[in-house]
Amino acid sequence: MIVEKDKVVSIQYSATDETGAVVDSNMDVEPLEYLHGYGNILENLEKELTGLEMSQEKQVLLVPEQAYGDFDPELVFEVSRQQFPQGAENIELGNVVQSSDGQQLMVTDIDGDKIILDGNHPLAGRTLHFSVIIKNIREATSEELAHGHAHMHESDDHCGPDCGCHH
Ligand code: ZN
Repeated sequence: MIVEKDKVVSIQYSATDETGAVVDSNMDVEPLEYLHGYGNILENLEKELTGLEMSQEKQVLLVPEQAYGDFDPELVFEVSRQQFPQGAENIELGNVVQSSDGQQLMVTDIDGDKIILDGNHPLAGRTLHFSVIIKNIREATSEELAHGHAHMHESDDHCGPDCGCHH
C-alpha cells in the first residue's frame, strides 16, 4: 500500500525553521493520523508524501508560499483595550483572541491601553523543513471518506469531539 488519495496515513514529523529551531513536532507522542488527499495537512506537504511506502522517511522543504504564506504587515493592527468585550485586563502577550468574523489574532504587544494584534499564522513567512516518517497506511472507512477526515479508531463509528461533523 502506498500513500495516495483516500488512504488514512499515520505520520511522525518534526518541522524546523530556517534557524534550525523546532517549530512543530510529534516525534515524542502518538503519530498523526490523517486522510490523504483532502487538505487535512499542508497541501504541499501532502503532495510530497504521495507515493511513499510504510516506514519511508522524507525530507521536505517548504518556502513560505508553500507553507503558511508570507508575513502580511497589514494583518498587524492596534486596538484599544476598550475594544475588547470582556476580560481585557487579563490579556497577556501570546494570547490568541478571535475577531468578530472568526479570525484568529495573536496579542503580540501590549502598551498601556494599546494592544497590538497579529492575524498572521504564527508560522507565516517561515521556510519550514519537515522530516516525515510514514508509520502506517490503511484503507479509509466509508464514513471517513464521507466526512473527508480520519477518525481516531477504525472501529469507532462515531465522530470524536474534534470531528466537527456531528450528525
Ligand atoms: Zn467525522
